[in-house]
Amino acid sequence: MLPTVAAAHAPGEALPSFASGFLHPLTGMDHFLAMLAVGIWGALLGGRAVWLLPVAFPLVMTVGAVTGISGARISGAEPAVLASVVILGGAIALNVRARLWVALAVVGPFALSHGYAHRIELPGTDAAAEYCAGFILATGLIHLGGVALGFIAALRHGLPVLRAVGAGIAGAGVALAAQRILA
Ligand SMILES: [Zn+2]
Repeated sequence: MLPTVAAAHAPGEALPSFASGFLHPLTGMDHFLAMLAVGIWGALLGGRAVWLLPVAFPLVMTVGAVTGISGARISGAEPAVLASVVILGGAIALNVRARLWVALAVVGPFALSHGYAHRIELPGTDAAAEYCAGFILATGLIHLGGVALGFIAALRHGLPVLRAVGAGIAGAGVALAAQRILA
């Protein structure tokens, strides 16, 4: 039914552990780029968004992971993960000045999808909690990296550079989606 699910999160990956959970978002381009983009966009939006987006994402992601483990279904999680890379990268590229609640409403469902995408690896394994802890820690660190990168916008000529980075992220998201469709 959903070959893309197997392609993105194959059960053949390393057994769930704190280390494999930590490494997963760092080695998975779809996760990494979206999480980096959340940090950058938060920094660009400024104010409370700087910390609220990077705090909300891992929290909602945890809800998504627990939902997946519990056996509840969320349809379209895999395409949503890829869409998150394109849309969040696009938000940076276009310097979209969303209100805080709008930004949270955009980021929330994406975070849910990023967490839920791991239901295949996790059910029935003792190390699900360790895996999630590692995953969430790495996500927080990627967000921090994104926020740090986001402050480039304050530098002279920094904003165009950052917007180019956003365009690059969105482009990579399109490439990942195309690869997934053609695979
Ligand atoms: Zn994943």
